[in-house]
Amino acid sequence: MTVAQNETELVAQLNQLSPEQLFVWAKKEHGQRAGIITSFQDTGCVMIDLMSRVAPGMRVITVDTLRLHDETYALMREVEQRYGIQIERFTPDPEALQQMITEHGEYLFFDSRAKQELCCQIRKVEPNARALETLDVWFTGLRRDQSEFRSSTPKVQWVFRNGRRILKIAPLVDWSQERVDAYITEHNVPKNALYEKGYTSIGCIICTTPTLSHEEKRAGRWRWQNMTGEKVKECGIHMDGSGI
Ligand code: SF4
Repeated sequence: MTVAQNETELVAQLNQLSPEQLFVWAKKEHGQRAGIITSFQDTGCVMIDLMSRVAPGMRVITVDTLRLHDETYALMREVEQRYGIQIERFTPDPEALQQMITEHGEYLFFDSRAKQELCCQIRKVEPNARALETLDVWFTGLRRDQSEFRSSTPKVQWVFRNGRRILKIAPLVDWSQERVDAYITEHNVPKNALYEKGYTSIGCIICTTPTLSHEEKRAGRWRWQNMTGEKVKECGIHMDGSGI
């Protein structure tokens, strides 16, 4: 592929590529400055499988909030063994974390939306920002069918982080749940055991719960906020997820 000089043209060109072609392009053009950041939900595992077939060696990064489910930690170990990779873990800053717990307690997220956002900022957003400092191309597992908020997520977009442009690519953004499930079955992709327990979105323990069939995939996040009518179920990492 001829790399477009114009950044808008580049996005337009990349939008035409398949997930496999996007991984190949990113590895060739950006090497170790390209990587997958995943929380090991089903789309993330499919991305790792696709990448391992066409662009092996690409970095796989996760934000470990230190409050993940045992099933998620087990899946990480399984993925490392299956694909022969070493997952890079970015964790909360220890001092900021301790200060937050001392001031507000371990379970501050129950108190208010503001304190939930503070917890997410320290445990997720800040470590994710540190990870992004090491990347020029950020692969993410966002899909449009995950929530109304994510329904207009672009496949490829420029985002600003710390005054710097990063190419954010959601290669499976238009995949349906059925397509993801079919790929997982066909290729025997490792899957988080929590899906068998009714979870449709997986994050921190307590803050993520199983969902009912009529609910959005992310409805189980911070479920107590449903009582106040809160609709935006985002931690802050993907607040550009709508593409706005
Ligand atoms: S999901 Fe919950 S525990 Fe995890 S960082 Fe956000 S508020 Fe904190």
